[in-house]
Amino acid sequence: MTTLADRTLPIKPSVTLAIAAKAGKLRSEGVDVVNFSAGEPDFDTPERIKAAAVEALKRGMTKYTDVKGIEPLRKAIAEKYQREYGLAYRKDEVLVSCGAKHSLYNLFQAAVNPGDEVLIPAPYWVSYSDMALLAGGVPKIIQTTEATDFRIRAQQLADTLSPRTRVFVLNSPCNPTGASYDKDELLAIAKVIDKHKCLIIADDIYEKIVYDAFQVHNLVQLSPSLRDRTIIVNGVSKTYAMTGWRIGYALGSEDIISAAAKIQSQSTSNPTSIAQAAALEAIGGPQDDVAMMVGEFQKRRNVIVERLNAIDGIHCLKPQGAFYVFPNISAFIGKTANRKKLGSPCDVADYLLEEAKVAAVPGEDFGSKAHIRLSYATSRENIEEGCRRMRDALGKIR
Ligand SMILES: *Cc1c(COP(=O)(O)O)cnc(C)c1O
Repeated sequence: MTTLADRTLPIKPSVTLAIAAKAGKLRSEGVDVVNFSAGEPDFDTPERIKAAAVEALKRGMTKYTDVKGIEPLRKAIAEKYQREYGLAYRKDEVLVSCGAKHSLYNLFQAAVNPGDEVLIPAPYWVSYSDMALLAGGVPKIIQTTEATDFRIRAQQLADTLSPRTRVFVLNSPCNPTGASYDKDELLAIAKVIDKHKCLIIADDIYEKIVYDAFQVHNLVQLSPSLRDRTIIVNGVSKTYAMTGWRIGYALGSEDIISAAAKIQSQSTSNPTSIAQAAALEAIGGPQDDVAMMVGEFQKRRNVIVERLNAIDGIHCLKPQGAFYVFPNISAFIGKTANRKKLGSPCDVADYLLEEAKVAAVPGEDFGSKAHIRLSYATSRENIEEGCRRMRDALGKIR
């Protein structure tokens, strides 16, 4: 047997993969599966953005760029934060990477020492804890429930912070819950953090995907004293339907950004040149396409929340952002379906796939034993059909 590095050992294979593989197999056999498992917008990348990439290609923009990303893009990112939040970042305080996931990976590598604690509110996006582990860190989970709309209370944070805390991760709007922190909550969190020395990683990837005129605020804007130890992570994947282009970025003080850039320089170097040209158009160009997509997501959210709550045994909050719902399905756990006992969200997701041909992501990967995640980045017809199928299948559980 091959000898593997110790660092691979704590990284757990995702339970989601088994369901995804099964759904893929069913589809390849011609079964009509309603797919609620996508982690990306179903829209195509807007034409203006594609055209910018084609233009860059024709211009011969096919060579290495600056490791940190082309200057016009880093400037456009800094200008965006100036324009929208009144925050001033120099271009050397911006690092463009191969997706926000890569930005986060570089930052964990640059900031976390073995034994350092990384505070992660749950339910959480799947990769934070594994990235922390890969850097030798110790993930510390702060649990939340529907009782606080899946948002941590400042007091919970105060109780969990310790001298060993190195990083606090805040993802708002949140994947998988859609939970979004308002101004007062952010101020309360800032007040607690102010008494500590830890870094804050603010994962703002769903910043533009918010509903009902929800006002997005930024921790640094509300609490300027946190600027030097907050790193803002964002990207074009979710806002502009550009998941395949792989462009994300980080803004923060020059020391941490330079350290992350050094790590990037010894792994991927610059992100794809043409994709950077596309991201420049995405961020710097007209934003009408974003409003169109968000408007459609909001209609879908309204439909899916209403249909799910009409199903006996399901309780689903109405999220303020992102494109996921995180219904509570604990009423079905411990029950029997198709002569099998449902012991976990994974079993429920498995049953939904087999019985209803509906693909959902079980909550375990996000740190929950009571929920499943449904993405509504799919047509309203699919949402109606999928919810009908779920109602019928769940109605058979005794
Ligand atoms: C999708 C996602 C990312 C990563 O996006 P990239 O495609 O790598 O830019 C990061 N954080 C959260 C919460 C996400 O949902």
